[in-house]
Amino acid sequence: MSKGRLLSGMQPTGMLHLGNLEGALANWVKLQDEYEAFYFIADWHALTTLYDKTELIKDYRRQVAIDFLAAGLDPNKCAIFVQSDIKEHAELYLLFSMTTPISWLERVPSFKEKQEQLHLETVSLGLMGYPVLQAADILIYKANVVPVGQDQLPHLEISREIGRRFNYLYGDIFPDCKAMLTQYAAMPGLDGRKMSKSYENAIYIADTAEETVAKVRTMFTDPLKIHKNDPGHPEGCAVYGLMKTYGQADMHEDCVAGKIGCVGCKMRLANFLNERLTPIRERRCELEQHPEKLDEVLAAGAEKARKVAKESMAEVREAMNF
Ligand code: SF4
Repeated sequence: MSKGRLLSGMQPTGMLHLGNLEGALANWVKLQDEYEAFYFIADWHALTTLYDKTELIKDYRRQVAIDFLAAGLDPNKCAIFVQSDIKEHAELYLLFSMTTPISWLERVPSFKEKQEQLHLETVSLGLMGYPVLQAADILIYKANVVPVGQDQLPHLEISREIGRRFNYLYGDIFPDCKAMLTQYAAMPGLDGRKMSKSYENAIYIADTAEETVAKVRTMFTDPLKIHKNDPGHPEGCAVYGLMKTYGQADMHEDCVAGKIGCVGCKMRLANFLNERLTPIRERRCELEQHPEKLDEVLAAGAEKARKVAKESMAEVREAMNF
């Protein structure tokens, strides 16, 4: 029995990595059994940063879809689709942009961060209006639940405010959507900072087993532990941090006691990751060899999503006298 409708998406701004897999995708796979789930590839959102590299978005759009399926999303259980295939998102975005005060957008913390991070001298309307498009993405499906990380909470709050304001002005159309906080410790990357494609410290789902071993070999460990029998400090070590997110951190004692060396410890991690990723990578290869299967999945997902989006837009237009 479905607990309600759930929606989540990812931007095709790069290949998906272990942090995306364990922090979001693995959870989505579980949730597809409990909710009427809609998962989308947010390619219009990707334009906020890659507006001058749209050929990259084209490539990542497919790669992200492959990762979705390879990770275990099942098109028989959920709708998997590309945002730009459903033009209704853009229409609702436009209508919401007429009722959303700019001051709401200026106070979104990630807006300022992004502006600084990207060293932007001028800010596009699209970057500033990002939360409005996100509100349209969510509300058009009348989603009850949105799985989000802590950093996404302010965006979701704006979506709810935009929905409430619409309901106040034009009548009750949109249900209130709740955040489902994803409880997952941030995964450390190769250098110990949070794993992120922008830090170039990620292990990708699509990496080969050999690439994974090579990357793990470069991981940051305790710089004071030079010889195998030197006592180590696992707390600052990226290998330990990554193993901990998998509940595999039983090397702590041996590290502190100088009973194990970093080379062996890294091999253990590499083997563990390759074991975890092998079935996913095999499904990836299969999908890459049969692009028509991917096209079918995305077309079917879009059809399912479009039906709901069209129904919502019919209600919205009527309520707004269009
Ligand atoms: S032995 Fe393992 S946990 Fe300890 S510092 Fe080396 S890699 Fe890190």
